[in-house]
This record gives sequence, structure tokens and C-alpha cells, in this order.
Amino acid sequence: MDHFQYRDGALFAEDIPISDIVSKFGTPCFIYSKATLVRHFRAYADSLADIPHLICYGMKANSNLAVLQTLAKEGAGFDIVSIGELERVIKAGGDPAKVVFSGVGKQDFELRRALEVGIHCFNVESLAELEHLNAIAIEMGKVAPVSLRINPDVDPKTHPYISTGLKANKFGIAHKDAIAAYRRSSELLGLSPVGIDCHIGSQLTDVSPLIESLDKLLSLIDQLADIGIQLKHIDLGGGLGVTYDQETPPHPSEYLALVKERLAGRNLTLVLEPGRSIAANAGIFVTKTILTKTNQDQHFAIVDGAMNDLIRPSLYGAWQNIVPVDTTEKPGQIEASFDIVGPVCESGDFLGKARTLRIQEGDLLAVRSAGAYGFVMGSNYNTRGRAPEILVDIDQVHLIRERETIDSLWALEHTVDD
Ligand SMILES: *Cc1c(COP(=O)(O)O)cnc(C)c1O
Repeated sequence: MDHFQYRDGALFAEDIPISDIVSKFGTPCFIYSKATLVRHFRAYADSLADIPHLICYGMKANSNLAVLQTLAKEGAGFDIVSIGELERVIKAGGDPAKVVFSGVGKQDFELRRALEVGIHCFNVESLAELEHLNAIAIEMGKVAPVSLRINPDVDPKTHPYISTGLKANKFGIAHKDAIAAYRRSSELLGLSPVGIDCHIGSQLTDVSPLIESLDKLLSLIDQLADIGIQLKHIDLGGGLGVTYDQETPPHPSEYLALVKERLAGRNLTLVLEPGRSIAANAGIFVTKTILTKTNQDQHFAIVDGAMNDLIRPSLYGAWQNIVPVDTTEKPGQIEASFDIVGPVCESGDFLGKARTLRIQEGDLLAVRSAGAYGFVMGSNYNTRGRAPEILVDIDQVHLIRERETIDSLWALEHTVDD
């Protein structure tokens, strides 16, 4: 359920017509619904109310400060993958003590800063990282809480680019090396092994790979207890899918009912890192039709949004629904199967292919499910300023990131004197 619905043929974000927002802020733009974000977060929080837990929003999905602020107020922690993300959490009023730090290539300055602010846990992804972190912690007179990211070698059956828990992926520590890695971490004076984690992939529409991973981690927890290493938390990562088209991902409550069954009687805090399932359907990308054209028999709607704004279709062949902002029929519209493409000079620049729509110049289209891995993956390719981000809260419209100006696009560049 989300709060982008039609009223009398016009698309709304909560109580605000999309066309009103466009009149004020132009196109293309990203529009988020606060109530939807909160609702998705609470789907996790409510399911876990009866067990010790920490929901660390996988913030790379959408890291706008206002989004982080909204979730922080709901009690969210954050899963970060860079020091930039940690600084965003702090800036947005989030609690560093609820932060877990993932990533295969954490640098010394990042580890140092995270130790300085006192994060909840370092999700360590290699033996080399254990040694680096230990050395820095000792130098700073601290003990770093660590979890080892175990690669459970489970096939998440998702797109190869977002599959992360297979042997062949760069992420995590191999399942067979886990016990030795924990032994090593318990010998190092700068480290305290407190947890275990995994994150096997994204856009998972079936719980079985997640549950299979959980079982593998629980068995490791038992083996570790036998050698005197008592862990306090288990972190199952993120990865729950969303409905872009016909997918039927499990509701968080269904997934978590299975998880809770397995955790019953164990003294473990459950940590989760959901990103997409909180943010994706809390956002849309709105773009305007510049013109339509027909080459051979192929109809194109050339729109002002492009792959630099929303790269998922180009990068993963991802399908996102594209709907009219105003469904009332207008005389000049053509109904046809359109490829919805941007102005960027790449044949891979499309938002959707073969979409049956009624369109004419000037019509607004909304690309659904654009709240996650949308704006954050944007670029300035073709010297295009990035689109603004707008957060709707019932009947209030907040501009939470301004449209980039042309000047700003070369603000960091220098010409050379000759
Ligand atoms: C990307 C990522 C997440 C969030 O994944 P979603 O599929 O968006 O839920 C969580 N944990 C880690 C380590 C990640 O890299």
C-alpha cells in the first residue's frame, strides 16, 4: 500500500495533486510520500515489537537528509557503506549508536571516524579488515564491536548485479572460513565479536533463501558458543523485494514470523537492514513529454527525465510502471505502444519500453517505485542537473533537495591558463 492514488483521474501524493507540485517545482522531479515511508518502516517495527531488535535502514537506497530524519524519528538505525553516509546520519539527527557499517573496502579514515562516534557495530567483510580495524582501535584506545559478514553461499535468485551471497561475489567471508575468522577476532585485543551478519542480495521475492541463510548463521552461532564465543546479535541484512510489476514479495510480517519462530528461546537481538522495501514504493519520478515521434513503426515519447536521473531500467533492465499523471482523455493524444526515452545520447537511455499509453506533447508521466535506487544513483551525464526531491506530508509539500543549477555543474572545475 502506498499513498500515490488517483482522485477523479488525477494522480495525488497523499493529499496533494502531482500537477500542483510540478507547477511549482518543474520536471523532472522525485516526489516522496512521508506516510508511505513511515508505513513501510512500521511494517518491520510492529512485527518485531515483541523481541529485541534494531532496524537499520539500508540508507544507500535513498539517503536524502529528510528521509533519514523521518526514519530516525521512528526509531530507525542505519546501515551505512561509507563515511559520507555516517555523516548524513549525524546531520539528519540519527543516532550513531544505532549504525552498522557494511562494505568490502572500508578505509582507515572511515574506520577511525566510526570508532570516534561510537557506532553499534562494524560488519567486517574480510580477515584483512579485521586486522586494520584492530590496529586502529588499539591506537585509539577503543574496542570495536564487530560482526562478521558471512557469505552463506545461498542463491537469492535475483538479478546477478544485486546478488551478493554467492561464492563468486566479492562480499563477505566464506562460510567455511567463518569459525577461523571468529577465533582470530576473539584473539585481537581491539575487537569484540558481538554479532554475525549476512546480506545475500536485493529484490528477493521468496523468503526461502533468506531463511536458508538464517539457518546457516544460527548453526554457526551454536558452533561459536561451543568454543566460548557468545554472540549477542544476528543481522540478516536487507533484500526483501517490492512489487514493481507482478512480483508478489512476502510482507515483512510473513518473513519475520518465520524468523521469530527460529529465534525463539535464543538470547539474540535481531538486526535487519531493509532499504528497497522501505523506500521504493514511497517515491515516484515525474517527467514531462517533450515530444512524440514515430520511426518506422516504433512510437517514442521523448521525455525530460533520463537515465542520468533514473538508471535502473538501463542498468538492470528493470521494469518500473509508468502511468499518466492525468488520466482524462485529451483530443490530441495518440494511444500506442510507446518507448519512453530520455534526451541522453545513448540508445540505452530509456525509462520503459513498449508501454501502452495515451500521450501528447506536454503530458506528465509518473514512473512508479522510484523512491529507492533512484535519485541516489543519478549522475550529471550530458551535463544535466539532477532533479529536485520533494517530500509530501499529508497536505504539506517540502522541497528537500533543490534542482541543481547549471552553474553548480562546473562549480568544482578549473580551466587552465595558457
Ligand atoms: C544494499 C544493502 C542493504 C539494503 O538492501 P535492500 O535490498 O535495499 O533492502 C542492506 N545491507 C547491505 C549490506 C547492503 O549492501
